[in-house]
Amino acid sequence: MSFRRNRLTKPIFNWAKGIMPPISATEKEAIDAGTVWWDGELFSGTPDWDKLLAMPPSRLSPDEQAFLDGPVNELCAMIDEWKIVSEDHDLSPEVWDFLKRKKFFGMIIPKEYGGLGFSHTAHSEVVRKVSSASVVAGVTVMVPNSLGPGELMMHFGTEAQRDHWLPRLADGREIPCFGLTSSEAGSDAASMTDTGTVEYGEHEGKRVLGLRLNFEKRYITLGPVATVMGLAFKMVDPENHLGRGEKLGITVALIPTTTPGVRVGDRHIPQYTFFQNGPLYGKDVFVPMDWILGGEAQIGQGWTMLMTALAAGRAISLPS
Ligand SMILES: Cc1cc2nc3c(=O)[nH]c(=O)nc-3n(C[C@H](O)[C@H](O)[C@H](O)COP(=O)(O)OP(=O)(O)OC[C@H]3O[C@@H](n4cnc5c(N)ncnc54)[C@H](O)[C@@H]3O)c2cc1C
Repeated sequence: MSFRRNRLTKPIFNWAKGIMPPISATEKEAIDAGTVWWDGELFSGTPDWDKLLAMPPSRLSPDEQAFLDGPVNELCAMIDEWKIVSEDHDLSPEVWDFLKRKKFFGMIIPKEYGGLGFSHTAHSEVVRKVSSASVVAGVTVMVPNSLGPGELMMHFGTEAQRDHWLPRLADGREIPCFGLTSSEAGSDAASMTDTGTVEYGEHEGKRVLGLRLNFEKRYITLGPVATVMGLAFKMVDPENHLGRGEKLGITVALIPTTTPGVRVGDRHIPQYTFFQNGPLYGKDVFVPMDWILGGEAQIGQGWTMLMTALAAGRAISLPS
């Protein structure tokens, strides 16, 4: 054992260390972000099964059960997936309206902000059931509740951002999407080419310090109908206005899709399934600093934010 370790593994490891490219700060952040939950035990070689068994099963509250028995059943009965896929290529206006009215887009938003305040279990059950009737409706419901900016806002948004956006997201006045994937950066999202450059510009008639954004995002679910996008970009400050150096790291901002310079491209039809999905482009879009999600405190924290806040959503949405 020690012979293998000392004479074989160590020299090979030292040799490999020398030829591998060094890990960048963003890559390190990506690896360190998030948690491994109980699954980490499996890799310890001696998993603590008692710890797993001690976790109580999740149960639905009476409100959550009533939502499943009421609005979710009603929604499933309203949907004609054949018509969506073969004729309309979208949910019907009645279904969109029903989703907003019954707060399907605000399931995880706390009640004090006008949402339903549901648990992850309830969210998962709703998405599972809706998806069994219609993939298009399932994806439409799951994105605002998980991959959209709502969850990021609850964890990291400033009080002013939460007060403004959460009630509007909860009742469907705003339809969100999240733009991470770039034209040339998919799995390796950290190598995105989208930038936000710190500079002075004009916002609502005033000269303010802000960000000049240039981006090309693709495959963005709800992108074609979104009114607000969570945008991940690399923030740079070449003139050192903020006194924190030039490269500030991946940052997230909330951008209304009507902001001058934002363009919604033609829809993608992923797997010939007609949920709303498409590219979003930004050319020299100027936004004030306080559009950064979480304000200046969250500059450069984009990757950690995404990994921390979106993990629960991914674990629910994608399997459902
Ligand atoms: C239906 C749908 C909805 C989406 N919604 C959103 C959204 O709302 N917001 C958003 O930001 N993005 C969204 N995406 C984009 C999604 O995040 C990307 O598709 C994903 O990250 C993969 O990137 P890619 O498609 O560019 O594939 P690539 O990264 O180009 O991968 C192509 C293939 O190469 C393989 N591969 C890649 N890297 C490696 C490697 N290092 N080693 C070995 N194999 C590798 C992959 O497994 C894959 O088979 C969506 C995509 C789809 C299909």
